[in-house]
Amino acid sequence: MHIIETIYIDGNFLTPHGKEYFDLYNPAEETSIGRVRLGDVEDTRLAIAAAKRAFPAFSKTSKEERIAILQRLHAAVNARSEALTEATVEEYGAPVARASWGAGYAAECFLNAAKTLEQYEFERTIGSAKVVLEPLGVVGLITPWNNNYGFICNKLSMAIAAGCTAVIKPSEMSALQTQILTECLHEAGVPAGVFNIVNGRGDVVGAELSVNPDIAKISFTGSTAVGKSILRTGAETMKRVTLELGGKSPTVVLDDADFATAIPQVIAAGFGNSGQACVNGTRILVPEARLADFIAQLKSAVLRLKVGDPRDLDTLIGPMVSKKQYERVQRYIALGSEEGATVITGGEGRPAGMESGYFVRPTVFSGVTNNMTIAREEIFGPVVAVISYRTEDEAIEIANDTIYGLQAYVMSENPDRARAVASRIVAGRVHINGVHTETQAPFGGFKQSGIGREFGVFGLEAYLEPKTILGV
Ligand code: NAD
Repeated sequence: MHIIETIYIDGNFLTPHGKEYFDLYNPAEETSIGRVRLGDVEDTRLAIAAAKRAFPAFSKTSKEERIAILQRLHAAVNARSEALTEATVEEYGAPVARASWGAGYAAECFLNAAKTLEQYEFERTIGSAKVVLEPLGVVGLITPWNNNYGFICNKLSMAIAAGCTAVIKPSEMSALQTQILTECLHEAGVPAGVFNIVNGRGDVVGAELSVNPDIAKISFTGSTAVGKSILRTGAETMKRVTLELGGKSPTVVLDDADFATAIPQVIAAGFGNSGQACVNGTRILVPEARLADFIAQLKSAVLRLKVGDPRDLDTLIGPMVSKKQYERVQRYIALGSEEGATVITGGEGRPAGMESGYFVRPTVFSGVTNNMTIAREEIFGPVVAVISYRTEDEAIEIANDTIYGLQAYVMSENPDRARAVASRIVAGRVHINGVHTETQAPFGGFKQSGIGREFGVFGLEAYLEPKTILGV
């Protein structure tokens, strides 16, 4: 059993004032694996005060000093990648291959931020003015369970690169990973108070960060509903925000696509992270003339996906993170059929032969129209909807007919055509023929998928405020 009873403030592991505990489960086995003691408003205020005390000195550190800190953080997180992977498999049910990739990604964030920082000029001359980019102050970093410590590393690395100090509110469902990560970060020898980590409930610790006048900015990754509430509460003290929210991303299969190469990419986009990723391509737009062939090939490929024990290297789809999430996904699957869509493969209930664990059958719906609930709302499970279209214009219209605009995927044999379609899709990132990674290019959403960008220069500037100095 893992009993976690500390939070991290001012360089020290402390017992929270909060008395409440949150139970931790292994979602693949539905067994209790421990509990975490949650911080409260008083703990949050202590963490904010520590970050505020650390800010004046840290904001004046040189680029070189911060690059050295980022490099130490990279090494420290990298050194514990196996323990982080194990914790992610145990408490989240991430397939081990995915969890191990995630551990590498998390450590890399610090090197990526160091690279951005190396090339960044904090002072510029514009006309007669000197423009200085200054760190914002104390920032609140709030993360969800679906890549908890990866997001912490991403946000914290940029906050540190900018010279900000931080209070982190991780997902309470990810306390094991957070605990190991905190130990790593502590070992890297960052000045006390530069980062502080308070486990706690969203409506307690997260809410305090959103209202506290000493927090200059919130960087939040999570649901659109909570993002909106942070925006509303933060407005009172004019907080800067970066909001990375939900998605309902389209995968546009153009009529010249080669299905043999496109379908594995459609699956990677649609079912990655067991369908629990904001970037999943969950609306698959297919030309009507080739629909039957596409569905037959997609069905046989989805039937081959291995669902099961996340500790197996070849598992692609693990369990949903919690009972609540499992039930939510089951409700959407039932709703899809009620609304008139056809289950091509998958459907309600657990996969055959699995008696326990929050496993969902990878599900493909066809006969979906874009006004159905399963085409409009984020399901956050291994469930995709195939929608047919007649013309390229209609495909683009359907792709853009959503409140979200996080990502999109385009499949075509003709790169010029794919790029032309990409330019007409309203989304923060459009992937052509694959699921690609570029950690220096901006990441974030249009419309209700969020505000602001992470990664690279855009990510760094999200923690800076320009000051213009005029005259001699
Ligand atoms: P969530 O919004 O319920 O919770 C996210 C975090 O916010 C948690 O730490 C939670 O405790 C905290 N929180 C809850 N209420 C709060 C409040 N009132 N004030 C402040 N903080 C509060 O999201 P989730 O269910 O943990 O994660 C899934 C969601 O995250 C999905 O909608 C997904 O699309 C989104 N997501 C977005 C991205 C992106 O980069 N755009 C990435 C991953 C996940």
